[in-house]
Amino acid sequence: MDRITCRFIYNDELLGDILVKPYKSAKYVKFRISDGTVSATVPFAVPLQTFVSDLQELKPKISARQSAQKVCFRDGVVFSSCWLTVMLEHGDVKDYTVRGKLDRYFITAPEGENDNDLIKNGIYCAMKHRARQVLPPLVKELALKHGFQYRSVKINSSRGRWGSCSSIGNINLSLSLMALPRHLTEYVIMHELCHTRFMSHDDNFYRLLDKCADGESERMKAELRRYTTWIKGNSDNSLE
Ligand SMILES: [Zn+2]
Repeated sequence: MDRITCRFIYNDELLGDILVKPYKSAKYVKFRISDGTVSATVPFAVPLQTFVSDLQELKPKISARQSAQKVCFRDGVVFSSCWLTVMLEHGDVKDYTVRGKLDRYFITAPEGENDNDLIKNGIYCAMKHRARQVLPPLVKELALKHGFQYRSVKINSSRGRWGSCSSIGNINLSLSLMALPRHLTEYVIMHELCHTRFMSHDDNFYRLLDKCADGESERMKAELRRYTTWIKGNSDNSLE
């Protein structure tokens, strides 16, 4: 890639994943830090090299602000949604462990340790495990209800995209759906199911989606924008 024309995740050794978003209206490269996560807006089709050199120049500043903002986890509930609750505890273990029963998960950290990234990983593990339990049956239920046919459902760890659907009906859903309220999780699934009929986001597609969502699809689309596929952070996510 020489020029930035679509969203992508740039991995920086020090700052971690940076979601880069090109905008036609952006005049220069701008970094944003939210809950320790860095994102960037850049002018559409800006050379990648410009982004990289701006990043190098501002890195010390960004890094300092990032560490000041980093999320700290304490014992107790570290994640909670209508789908699952994740608790953190410390105990006599060598490595971070995750275990769960139904919708309650426990991350056990070694005594005296508090590694944010490992705890975040534990939360993602719990979300993925739960997503594998609840999403495939939910897709099946909604497909039956609205008369759709699909081939398969897979759960991935995408942080930039709630879901996607291939032209032969393979549906991919992000574990991040476990952070959404039920009606929005269903909305994302219905969006993907509608792609089994219409691949592009044309009028037919939106008419069908609106019918499945009882006329509420615009409202739910707007509501979904308030959520993020990151546990903490502020990136916009897209539906494909
Ligand atoms: Zn779509």
